[in-house]
This record gives sequence, C-alpha cells and structure tokens, in this order.
Amino acid sequence: MIDFQGIIEDITRNLKSIEDRGTVASYIPELAIANKHKFGIHLIDSQNNSYSAGDAEEAFSIQSISKVLSLAQAMGVVDNKLWKRVSVEPSGDPFNHLSLLEMENGIPRNPLINAGALVVCDVLISQLKNPKEDFLTFVRNIANEPTIHYDEKVALSEKRTGFKNYAAAYLLKSYGNLENDVDTVLDFYFHQCSLAMSCKQLAKLFYIFMNRGKCLREKEYLNINQVKRINALMLTCGFYDEAGEFAFEVGLPGKSGVGGGIAALLPDQYCVVTWSPGLNQKGNSKLGMLALEQLTTRTGLSIF
Ligand code: GLU
Repeated sequence: MIDFQGIIEDITRNLKSIEDRGTVASYIPELAIANKHKFGIHLIDSQNNSYSAGDAEEAFSIQSISKVLSLAQAMGVVDNKLWKRVSVEPSGDPFNHLSLLEMENGIPRNPLINAGALVVCDVLISQLKNPKEDFLTFVRNIANEPTIHYDEKVALSEKRTGFKNYAAAYLLKSYGNLENDVDTVLDFYFHQCSLAMSCKQLAKLFYIFMNRGKCLREKEYLNINQVKRINALMLTCGFYDEAGEFAFEVGLPGKSGVGGGIAALLPDQYCVVTWSPGLNQKGNSKLGMLALEQLTTRTGLSIF
C-alpha cells in the first residue's frame, strides 16, 4: 500500500526551503492579503482514508475552482443542452481573454474560462429558485460541510474591480448568449468565486469526480458520463494556458484558481487539493504544481 501520509509530509518539508514562491494575485485587492508562506495539502483515497499536511485546514478563496462545481450543478440540471451555448475546446489563452469570444460569435471556448463560466451561471440563474442559496446548499451537501460560505469581502472586492468580467458579460449579452441581466449574472459569478474553504473541505467536494459522481456518503450527484465529461474538461482546460504543462508534469485532471488552490484527481484512486497563494506567470500556484508533480512521480499514480 502506498504511504500517502509519508509522501505528502515529505513533499511539504521539501517545499519549505523554496524561496521563489511566485506572486500573490492582487488584481482582486482582497486576495492580495494572503500569506505566501502558507502551504497545505489534503488527499482522500478511494477507501475514504484522509491524509493531510501543512495548512490543510485553513480556508482560502477557491476562485476559479468553483467553475467545476457550478458546471457540475448545471449539468445535473440541463445536461447536454449546455453544449449549445458553450464549447469544449481548450482556449490556449489566459482565463479572461475576450478576443476569441468575439471571433466565435459569443460562444465561449469552454466552461472553465471566465466567459464560459458566466454562461453556466446564467443557466443556473434561469433554472434555480434561489440561485446563490441553492448553489451554496449544493456545495455544502456534497461535502457534508455546512460551514462552507461565500466570503462577502472577496465578492465585493471583485465586484469593484472585475472590469474584464463585466466586458465578457456584456459581450455575451450582445450575442444573445445570456438570458439574465449582466449584473445578476456577475453577482452570482463573483459569489461563486468567493467561496472560502480549506483543502480538506475542497477535497471532499472533488471526491465526486474521483468516485463516478458519488459523494463520500455514496449519494449520486452526477452520472458517469457527466463525470467523464467534466474530468475531460479539467484535463484539457483546467489550467488556463498551462493545461499542457500540467498534463505533462502532473498528469491529472484538475482545476486551479487565482487564490492559489489546485484540486486534482485520479479516477477511482484519489483526489487531492493543494493550496499555496503564490502564483507562477500563468496564474497557477507555483508550489501547488511542484507538489503535485512530486506526488504523481513518487507514487507513479497519474492517468498516464
Ligand atoms: N474570480 C476570478 C476572475 O474572474 C477567477 C479567476 C481564476 O481563479 O482563474 O478573475
């Protein structure tokens, strides 16, 4: 049996001495207060054993990782109808680029870039009675963690500075790819991104993508085809314009966020979440990528 605990402790120790920890995101002012010296990792295996090291129980802003969760809820509600409004190709561009959106007539490249995630938000707003509350309940129920919450300060901070997201939403609206008004969609999106949780809580959520759609309590949230699609999107589109590098170095489907989190999984084997707020130039957590590369190399457990 693999000594996951020994390996992640060892990785955490190795990373301590690294001086260049990247840069904390500051374009959302509230994120800039994060401490670059934090590092946490939490892994859950298919037998439901949990392994933790570092700051794995400290809450952080999950940002774009939330796009996978809203996508999961939307697929549960509208399933394959979503693909009429969002494509499934990697963009090869940063998460907030707008040029492709215009060239492709308001159909975002995939649901994990900002424009695509805004369309997913729009779908949920049209389908759910109380979108923000219902989405939070969905997340809390999967993880069985009733304390997971929106960080209002982070949501407000992005509302004040998220001009590119306003631009994307207006562009989508101009192409007729938003049913609801721009402010409502952005309010939902900024809240979704502001979700605060720890590596441990987030790993409990990503368990469903590792466990064929079933949560830790074996309740089914997605069918296996939906999980297959979400995992494929994470592999090809989950790391901005560094998805190729992540597949090359780590070899797992996953998703990163500018709060410094990375959630990844190996189907039927384990899911793992790392957090370290310093980002590399492409916007992915510097230490998180190193840690996951070491994890899959040392365990020999990647999808390849
Ligand atoms: N809320 C962030 C934005 O839209 C999310 C970015 C990210 O984590 O990739 O800019």
